[in-house]
Amino acid sequence: MKEIKLKARAKINLTLDVTGRRENGYHDLRMIMQSISLYDNVFIKKTDKNYIKLKSNIDWLPSDERNIAYKAAMIMKEKFNIKEGIFISLDKKIPVAAGLAGGSTDCAAVLVGINKLFKLGLSKKELMDIGVTLGADVPYCIMRGTVLAEGIGEILTPLPPCPDMHVILLKPSVSVSTATVYKSLDLPSITEHPDTEGVIECIKNKDKDGIANGLSNVLETVTLELHPQLKEYKERLIKKGAASSLMSGSGPTVFGLFYDKETALKAYKEFKAEGDIKHVILTKIYNTVRKGGK
Ligand code: ATP
Repeated sequence: MKEIKLKARAKINLTLDVTGRRENGYHDLRMIMQSISLYDNVFIKKTDKNYIKLKSNIDWLPSDERNIAYKAAMIMKEKFNIKEGIFISLDKKIPVAAGLAGGSTDCAAVLVGINKLFKLGLSKKELMDIGVTLGADVPYCIMRGTVLAEGIGEILTPLPPCPDMHVILLKPSVSVSTATVYKSLDLPSITEHPDTEGVIECIKNKDKDGIANGLSNVLETVTLELHPQLKEYKERLIKKGAASSLMSGSGPTVFGLFYDKETALKAYKEFKAEGDIKHVILTKIYNTVRKGGK
């Protein structure tokens, strides 16, 4: 095998709770992560020249070691003494710095892809252990599906698959820095925390209404205040028939869950026609079949 093509899926958060702050500035999290169908195409090729080269369809995205996908290739090359060169092409469809784990999922795809391409024989667990050194969300992006993530996001418990739903993502042109959002979070003043256990029960029972009603993200207290138009986006999603809406990660993407395709498609077309939101994406819940039937 000389080359490989992978689909690097994005994620949304069905819940995101911050349970504490560590002395090193990291936060303890408890969140339900969910893959969605939206993906970046990641193409990896062996080359004769002993270098790593990365190109992407976004001209302002760094293509050197500042790109987390490049970093993943560097680590694998060093760790496993790979003598051949590695060429990576990213066709990004996931908006950048959006709260959708775009970088982490590219990184995960490069780890998985290099493992296959160079027949390294590493298990998922071994890849996840390498992944966590690159970013807290990388192990989840290797695991994918419906998952409870704890610790800094790296302690993962697979959950039964979330029932199929349609998802509209709305992202304005503004970017938010994840670090700034966490720094600005006033943890003691937060009175409403997600009912994580309740949402897990609803996922187990395939209770879409329960899941929709349980959507909750404590980081909204920061990002929605910084960018009030996000509140308005959430309301517009509900007006157009979403069962519920929430911000993903530290934002600024907000999403709406829709039960039926017609309503979602109509809402999508309306947002597109209104034309004021930079990224409007129609996608759906994505689940992998897990070994062991989970
Ligand atoms: P998360 O949800 O994990 O917080 P995010 O979706 O908010 O991630 P990313 O899309 O991963 O954010 O981008 C965060 C930063 O990482 C950007 O400022 C970008 O310059 C940098 N970056 C490095 N490599 C990549 C990559 N392959 N794709 C996207 N961004 C990347």
